[in-house]
Amino acid sequence: MEPKPLSFDQTKLSGISDKTLAIHHDKLYQGYVNKTNEIDQKLTELRKSGQYEGNATYSELRALKDAETFARNGVYLHEWYFDGLRPSVDSGQLSVDSQAPELSKALAEKWGTLENGLKYFSACAMAARGWSVLCWDTKAGTLMHYNGDAHNQGGVWGCLPIIVLDVYEHAYFIDFGSDRKAYIEAFWKNFNWTKTEELYLKAKQVKL
Ligand code: FE
Repeated sequence: MEPKPLSFDQTKLSGISDKTLAIHHDKLYQGYVNKTNEIDQKLTELRKSGQYEGNATYSELRALKDAETFARNGVYLHEWYFDGLRPSVDSGQLSVDSQAPELSKALAEKWGTLENGLKYFSACAMAARGWSVLCWDTKAGTLMHYNGDAHNQGGVWGCLPIIVLDVYEHAYFIDFGSDRKAYIEAFWKNFNWTKTEELYLKAKQVKL
């Protein structure tokens, strides 16, 4: 797999600096892409060699299978996160519900009001150790929210991420110190609601 470039000018976000994005996207995200490729290659080689043992206490196969979901989810979650950002000036000061009418309606239906839905998401992000994710549950046919304390922990299979927020300290410590709340406010300021509305409309068509 190839890394996805950022879809915006990384010097233009409000609050989240060029320096943070250079480390976060160019080093950390790129690192997950590299490791995903390395693990894929090692699994292929191991499979072809026939020299593998499926031992659940320790085996090379077990270690690779564990690392596989950590690395690949590390890539995918970061792509959802970065894809959800754009410079705050690009919103033209439009309200959330005018940029994302259907998603706003769905958030309000699920959590009472749009404001409550966003407040709940932000509070969950304060409570997470890695990821806060709003997703479309293809089995239940509704929006759901889940927290992840690691890339391969906390997710529910069958759910398609819609809003993904990275709350690992590397995402904000340079710019906000330990003030995660201020970082979450900056995330919303830089959030690309029009793109996310399109993603939501696509995702909600999937019912399994
Ligand atoms: Fe990250």
